[in-house]
Formats: sequence, C-alpha cells, structure tokens
Amino acid sequence: MNRFGYIILIALSAEVLLNTIADIFNLKMLQNEVPEEFQGTYDADQYRKSQEYLRVNTQFGWWATSFNLMVVLVFWFSGGFSLLDEWVRAFGFFPIVNGMLYIGILIVLHTGLSQPFSIYATFVIEERFGFNKTTWRTYLLDLIKGLLLSILLGGPLLAGILAFFEFSGDNAWIYCWIVAVVYMLIMFFIAPTWIMPLFNKFDPLEEGELKSAILSYAADIQFPLKNVGVMDGSKRSAKSNAFFTGFGKNKRIVLFDTLIAQHAVPEIVAVVAHEMGHYKKKHILQGLLIGIIQGGFMFYLLSFFISNRGLFDTFYMEHISVYAGLIFFGMLYAPVGFFVGLLTQMRVRANEYEADRYAVNTTLKPDAMIQALKKLSVDNLSNLLAHPFHVFLNDSHPPVLKRIEAIKEIGLEG
Ligand SMILES: [Zn+2]
Repeated sequence: MNRFGYIILIALSAEVLLNTIADIFNLKMLQNEVPEEFQGTYDADQYRKSQEYLRVNTQFGWWATSFNLMVVLVFWFSGGFSLLDEWVRAFGFFPIVNGMLYIGILIVLHTGLSQPFSIYATFVIEERFGFNKTTWRTYLLDLIKGLLLSILLGGPLLAGILAFFEFSGDNAWIYCWIVAVVYMLIMFFIAPTWIMPLFNKFDPLEEGELKSAILSYAADIQFPLKNVGVMDGSKRSAKSNAFFTGFGKNKRIVLFDTLIAQHAVPEIVAVVAHEMGHYKKKHILQGLLIGIIQGGFMFYLLSFFISNRGLFDTFYMEHISVYAGLIFFGMLYAPVGFFVGLLTQMRVRANEYEADRYAVNTTLKPDAMIQALKKLSVDNLSNLLAHPFHVFLNDSHPPVLKRIEAIKEIGLEG
C-alpha cells in the first residue's frame, strides 16, 4: 500500500461516511406535522407516505452503497485489476483493442452487478409507492439500447482517447480534450433528434388552450418557440417533469404527458416559463462551458498520472497501460471530482432560484408558480424538509419550501 492507495481508500470511505451522516441528518428532520405552507395540499396520509418513501429510499441507498464499496474493495485487494489485465493481454491484440476490452468488461461487470438494485428500485420500491409504470419489456429494452449506444457512441471516443495517450506524446491531453469537446457538442445536438426518440415517443402538443397559452407567453418574452413537444413519460413513471432541448432553430420545450394530466394551464405555463428562464439566463450554455473547462482540467491532470508506476503498484499491476491508467486515475480523481461537484451543484441550485424569479417576473403569476411547485412536490412525494447538509452534498434543486419563500419575496417587491 503506498500513498496513492491511502488517498483512494480514504476518499472512498470519506464519501460514504459524509453521505451517511447527511442521510441521518435528513431522516432526523422528519416531523409528523404537515408544514404550514403545505396544509391543504398534502393530506396527512399522503404526507406520511412521502416520509416513508424517503426512509425506504435512504435505507436502500445504504445497502447499494455498501455493496458497491465492498465489490470495489474485494476486486481491488484480490488483484482483480491485474488478473483481468493478464487475461485480456493473453489474446495478443493491439494495446487499443486490449483497452477497449478491458474497460468494456469492467463496464459490463458493473452494469451486471447493479441490475439487482436497479430492478428492486423500479419494481419493488417505485411500485410500492405507485410510481412504477415500467414493464419488464421496457426495462430490458432500455438496458439493451443503453449498452448498444455506449458501444456505438462511447466506443469510438474511448478508442480515440486511448490512441492519443498511446501515440501522441506530451500533448495527448490537449488532443483528447478537443476530441471530447467536439464529441460532447455533437451529442448535445443529436440527442433530441436521434437518441431520445429511441427511448420515448415525442408528439407535438395538440392545438388547444394549453398550446395557445404557451405560445402566447413565448411571444410575450420574444422567445422564438415553434415547437412544444409531449413525451410519454408515463411509459416508465407516474412522476412528472418538463425540460428544454436543442439549440438555435431546433429549440423546443418538452412536457411529460403526466405533467399535462395533473396540472392546470397557468401552472404548466409557469413551469414552461421556469424552463425558458434557464434558457434566457444562459444556464444551459453556462453548464456546457463549465463542463468543457472541467474536462480540460481533468485531462491535464490525467496526463501526469496515466503511467505513474506508483499508481499501478497500488492496484498490483505488473504492466503499465493507458487503459488501466484511465481507470485508476478515475479513482484518484474522485476526491477532486467530489469538490468540483459541490461547487457545480451550488451554481445549479442558484440557477433554480434565478429561473423561478424569471418565470414570476414574466408571467406575473407567482401563485401559479407556487401552486405548480406544490403539486409537483406532492405528486412526486418529494422531501419537503431536506437537511441543509444533505442539500449541500447531493441536491440539484433547493428545497421546495425555500423556493416558495423566495418566490413570495419577489411578489412583495412588486
Ligand atoms: Zn429548473
């Protein structure tokens, strides 16, 4: 065991420990009384159910995390990384093919081992709380399509990265970064038209009150919106949502069919306005730019460690290789990624407040926004009283009560 081993081991345990503490704080926050703001929206039974949902998911999370940690440690300390390497090398392929095999097998193993948890979450937990609409057929098709897409889309990118680090010397990290950025932009453009339709059906929103309300709002804020889509979210879950896709002329807003079914027109317009707020305030572009900068930083660091003998010794590896270096660096980078993630989440949460503010200032209907948030929370059994430490570590959205409070303050300012 050398210093790399200690860093990785401490990082792995620290993350589990911090998350467990945050979970315990979170569960301690639960109260029997429905918060005042939600009296009348949440009935006592439904509220109890939301707390049970949180308890069940938290405990399930602990099982899944412990299992994952155990698998990684057993594989690591029984020399699994090296055994797999020897096995792959025995075929006598080129290093890049070896790398694709090595990383591919690790991904398949990981996917396979996580299936029981994923199946339990979908067909037992979500089912018990009335959310699950996924059939076994959909579940299996999703899994197969997901794996095929990773091979088809991820394979060439991985081959490129392996080849650059294998053959292009000190500047490899810059080439990898450029290729990864181009790849990310291409994905961003093709996802709405080529990838998402593989998983869901998208229809144009039918003519009527809702469509005219959305289009007239878009015209008010000079938002060139031509297309409102409806996605069959109900194929998998009763939970509801809305999102924005595309760039330039391909911009479109997509509403889950479940959202349309459960909300009044002004509430849906408020949700749409919130999504447009993300767009108008350039949050999407901001996220993309930050991703690009983080990618560069990561590839730069990677170039220092990818063939570090000490790092390979930690994992009992005889041979140094680019592909195994990628995996080990990923584990070494985890603590850095953790802190970078915390900062990113903070920005994402601040953006939520900004998008709410935009929606209220442009629709001038704070009550519709508040009503939409309340209904979404109740329908999705969201936790109303998340502990600040839990929010800080995990959440991409501020707690709903905080958002409602912030919206009310906008109302007072006029
Ligand atoms: Zn948002």
